[in-house]
Amino acid sequence: MVSEDDLIRTVAAAYGAGWRQVKLYFMCGLPTETDEDVLQIAELAKRVIETGREVSGRRDIRCTVSIGGFVPKPHTPFQWAAQLGAEETDARLAKLREAIRADRRFASAIGFRYHDGKPGIVEGLLSRGDRRVGRVIEAVWRDGGRFDGWSEHFSYERWMAAAERELPPQGVDVAWYTTREREEAEVLPWDHIDSGLDKEWLWQDWLDSLDETEVEDCRWTPCFDCGVCPQMNTEIEIGPTGKTLLPLTVLGAGRAQMAESAHTH
Ligand code: SF4
Repeated sequence: MVSEDDLIRTVAAAYGAGWRQVKLYFMCGLPTETDEDVLQIAELAKRVIETGREVSGRRDIRCTVSIGGFVPKPHTPFQWAAQLGAEETDARLAKLREAIRADRRFASAIGFRYHDGKPGIVEGLLSRGDRRVGRVIEAVWRDGGRFDGWSEHFSYERWMAAAERELPPQGVDVAWYTTREREEAEVLPWDHIDSGLDKEWLWQDWLDSLDETEVEDCRWTPCFDCGVCPQMNTEIEIGPTGKTLLPLTVLGAGRAQMAESAHTH
């Protein structure tokens, strides 16, 4: 629910107050994403630089675009999603880098940092793996794998070699855990762990995301019945309660009115 104009207003305030550099963080490989979506990041970065030059009247304005591959996680609406493969992620990021470099007026003002897609696939395997992945972890460790979070120690080849040895005899492979989309009926390895969210609600949220239905922040709207409040024994009070609320400012008159009558937790 944060629009591009919200972001531009914010960076205008920062550059206007004397800041010279902002960093923007992005993910690549979100469900339904296309190359064109990612290329828009270049346009956004140019708009940020243009805004900075305009409000500060200076040329030494910088912006860094930092981007990595999206890894679907359990207990979120994207737990059913197909992760983007490492090669597709790298190809998309290469196109973005090209798009940033192509425009001479901005190229030197925009820094580009990215994480390649391979570590993301291992992260994805560990994130949504079940007990069968335990053998892969052990095999990697026996093979000398240590400190994999440090890029100089990380070996994608070691992980994939271990996975190719250990997973097929158990009837699965890396793609089955990472780039495969799940169906509603599938029993997920973490279903027995209760995070308070209703699985049906998460599934609906997943469908909403696919058809781009925006779901508002439940602090300002009626409850969506995600299940968390009753699970956590939190009472939902419909306001105005007469109590002093946190000093939150909601932008826009319509929303400010909603805030007045918002429920508090
Ligand atoms: S009010 Fe509580 S139960 Fe309702 S949608 Fe929000 S977090 Fe979930």
